Amino acid sequence: MSKPDSRPASIALPATEPVAGRRFAGFAPAHVLVAFLLLVSLAPVVLPEFYVTLLNYIGLYALVALGLVLLTGVGGLTSFGQAAFVGLGAYTTGVLTASPDLPGWLAWAGGSPWLALVIGLLLTALVALLVGSLTLRLSGHFLPLGTIAWGISLYFLFGTMETLGGHTGLTGIPSISIFGWELDEGREIFYLIWVFLLAAVLTTRNLLDSREGRAIRALKGGMVMAEAMGVNTSRSRMVIFVIAALHAAASGWLYAHMQRFVNPTPFGLHIGIEYLFMAVVGGAGQVWGAIVGAGIITVMKQWLQDWLPKLFGASGNFEVIVFGLMMVVILHRARDGVWPLLAKLVPVRGQHIEVDATAAALPRREMPARGERILEARKVTRKFGGLVANNDMNLHVEAGEILALIGPNGAGKSTMFNQLSGVDTPTSGEVLFRGKSIAGHASREIAGLGMSRTFQHVKLLPKMSVLENVAIGAHLRGSGSVVPAAWRLERGEEARLIAEAAHQIKRVGLEEYMHEEAGSLALGQQRILEIARALASDPCLLLLDEPAAGLRFKEKEALGELLSKLRSEGMAILLVEHDMDFVMGLVDRVVVMEFGQKIAEGLPEEIQKNPAVLEAYLGGVE
Ligand code: ADP
Ligand code: MG
Repeated sequence: MSKPDSRPASIALPATEPVAGRRFAGFAPAHVLVAFLLLVSLAPVVLPEFYVTLLNYIGLYALVALGLVLLTGVGGLTSFGQAAFVGLGAYTTGVLTASPDLPGWLAWAGGSPWLALVIGLLLTALVALLVGSLTLRLSGHFLPLGTIAWGISLYFLFGTMETLGGHTGLTGIPSISIFGWELDEGREIFYLIWVFLLAAVLTTRNLLDSREGRAIRALKGGMVMAEAMGVNTSRSRMVIFVIAALHAAASGWLYAHMQRFVNPTPFGLHIGIEYLFMAVVGGAGQVWGAIVGAGIITVMKQWLQDWLPKLFGASGNFEVIVFGLMMVVILHRARDGVWPLLAKLVPVRGQHIEVDATAAALPRREMPARGERILEARKVTRKFGGLVANNDMNLHVEAGEILALIGPNGAGKSTMFNQLSGVDTPTSGEVLFRGKSIAGHASREIAGLGMSRTFQHVKLLPKMSVLENVAIGAHLRGSGSVVPAAWRLERGEEARLIAEAAHQIKRVGLEEYMHEEAGSLALGQQRILEIARALASDPCLLLLDEPAAGLRFKEKEALGELLSKLRSEGMAILLVEHDMDFVMGLVDRVVVMEFGQKIAEGLPEEIQKNPAVLEAYLGGVE
């Protein structure tokens, strides 16, 4: 634990508003963290019972809210149903440790809270996989609605199943013991709760700062791009859904052994909404925000429940009204929650990702032999309703050549790129890449075969650093998965991925911006960033959609040199470009499109003289 803590670091950064170039979820300076740990460990010794109980609840809630930070704040998937997963963890351990007569087939699992924790987590993972496979595909508002549906279903299941004690619930749940130490007082289980929470905060922070984490952070606003870089976004969504559910279940397990009984009430939909609320108040993109949010809501709830009924002279859950108003104010005034405001009070030094120049280079793909026909489109047609955007298009690209696809605006060039790269599926026709038929295949599969692309309308994560954006391109060259990333066991590979990203950034001439926010670059530079990102995947075919648009003369020259150099290394390049001087001086062959069709194909000098082209396209320009 000493390594990440000992270096000067930055405060937690949200997915929504990270500070330029710093790590996603940096850390408070070491002394702040040490002070925090000291306070936490002294709290049960010095505080009266009431406050210890309050802190216990804050810890339990924060654990659930942290899952939501990952799921909703970072991943953009809203869930109202987390309370049901808390219930799943609580009831599993309740049944296994408190039922006097477990059926014979379950007897082996009974009696031990720790065994019940493992079983509860496994069960939760299973349920989350099942529920996730049914609901995560829902788009827009349907996903939150789906989470409400299964949240309510599980809640009613707890209340109606006889073995679960119906609405009275289960009693007689034992306390947890660690090596003979019985945690049967609030002051004792306090430590377990906060160890769980801090471990969860650290592992979540680690995860977000990894290959897998970059894929997760691309979910909100970068799905098409991430898929084109080889990220399996459905898998990433499922990963954060399961992780969030596991956090909730662990919280439920702790809760059951703290309370020593469970009933359905704390696992209903209204509590699910409260959890979401905690995440939003704290700062939905920020790991430490979960604790702040849980703290604010829990203390306020306590306080409001005491005072509001006195104020109104009637009993009732008036705090709900206050929370509702608070939510509206926060969404209007402080989208990123309270944490960033608190973080400003702590002096932080900016810290950006270090590039380890000594990291071993990643293995490279074997380049196809020069002249090999690596991409071929045969009679590709794409219709959008009545509009035929690509009509019977044939073209091919060889290894070691640059082919330009030109034509007036709306001719269908970008559409063609989408058919070739798997972003879209042709209505009919075939695309062969290195001899394999790829039309209709997922873009991440095609990326794996060695095709990489840029987008006419740049697709990058504007709040992430240039370095991290480019590192997404190297996604398929690593394999570090969730668990190793959470515990920083994949640092060797991570260093190599980051070094590769840095290398490509230098190669395209953006090194002075390496640690800047990608969104702060000029549009032309963002296009160049996309080329670096594409190169980080070690492709053998590059598809560049208007790479020179927005570049100044010198920058265009540099780009031309880079592309020539790539070609000399055996790379095949297909590019769409409007700047005829740039195209004609650079490329080997040209294909001209108009109204979705190919109207000419040939050497640059032939195309420049082709009457059909002059009339249709160049004629219009001159
Ligand atoms: P280019 O890149 O050559 O400028 P595009 O491929 O972007 O042209 O567009 C070709 C034609 O297809 C245009 O008329 C455009 O409006 C249409 N088009 C492109 N994408 C879609 C889509 N997703 N739905 C409907 N029409 C589309
Ligand atoms: Mg276009």
